[in-house]
Amino acid sequence: MVSGERCLAADDDILVNNMKEMIGGCCVCSDERGWAENPLVYCDGHGCNVAVHQACYGIVQVPTGPWFCRKCESQERAARVRCELCPHKDGALKRTDNGGWAHVVCALYIPEVEFANVSTMEPIVLQSVPHDRYNKTCYICEDQGRESKAASGACMTCNKHGCRQAFHVTCAQFAGLLCEEQGSDADNVKYCGYCKYHYSKLKHKERDRHKLKHRKSLELGTSLITSISSADKVRALLLSLPLPHLLPLSPPPPLVEH
Ligand SMILES: [Zn+2]
Ligand SMILES: [Zn+2]
Ligand SMILES: [Zn+2]
Ligand SMILES: [Zn+2]
Ligand SMILES: [Zn+2]
Repeated sequence: MVSGERCLAADDDILVNNMKEMIGGCCVCSDERGWAENPLVYCDGHGCNVAVHQACYGIVQVPTGPWFCRKCESQERAARVRCELCPHKDGALKRTDNGGWAHVVCALYIPEVEFANVSTMEPIVLQSVPHDRYNKTCYICEDQGRESKAASGACMTCNKHGCRQAFHVTCAQFAGLLCEEQGSDADNVKYCGYCKYHYSKLKHKERDRHKLKHRKSLELGTSLITSISSADKVRALLLSLPLPHLLPLSPPPPLVEH
């Protein structure tokens, strides 16, 4: 089901599910908005809350009828489907190359994870993930009293240089600690996450800069979207636009007077 086609249902369960989707938005990027060229698509599986942008889940063609996420589409019993990289069961999963499952968001934010096919974003390739990541414990799980889960899966570490805090990608996603930063090229997105301390420090800096930067980034955004056609690039731009640009502004070249 595509956003905009949703009809109201009296069923309580469905209403609750709708609420979750509206609050959470896309399971991968957390944005609640949909775009004509990159709609938010809802899984029609029974009791499934998955909502994803077409480009965030690698949906090559959005069907006109019902759409099912890979988990609902598979014959595997739901209880057996769990992410190899984190302790959370819900969310947008894909098959891994070793026959298991992993969240697309976990795959994006753990640096060594790759997608065998970048347009369909599957299967998720885990073989290059260093063993060390599986030995780390998630400090968010520990903080929230989920000690038994803290050591499961693999962890990313705070992107602040020198910080050693480790956490599950989805724990950081629920805590609002993930972001996308502009990479070396204008159309390149870097997936970053921070511990609570460094995230709030970054947000503080960002607020100070916001007034100066807002206008410029809006102008830049519209011109770039019309000039780039590749789905991946459009996605990268769409996703990076509403999010804070955390990279420092490079100072303008000094004026030389003659
Ligand atoms: Zn998304
Ligand atoms: Zn589903
Ligand atoms: Zn996961
Ligand atoms: Zn965790
Ligand atoms: Zn940190």
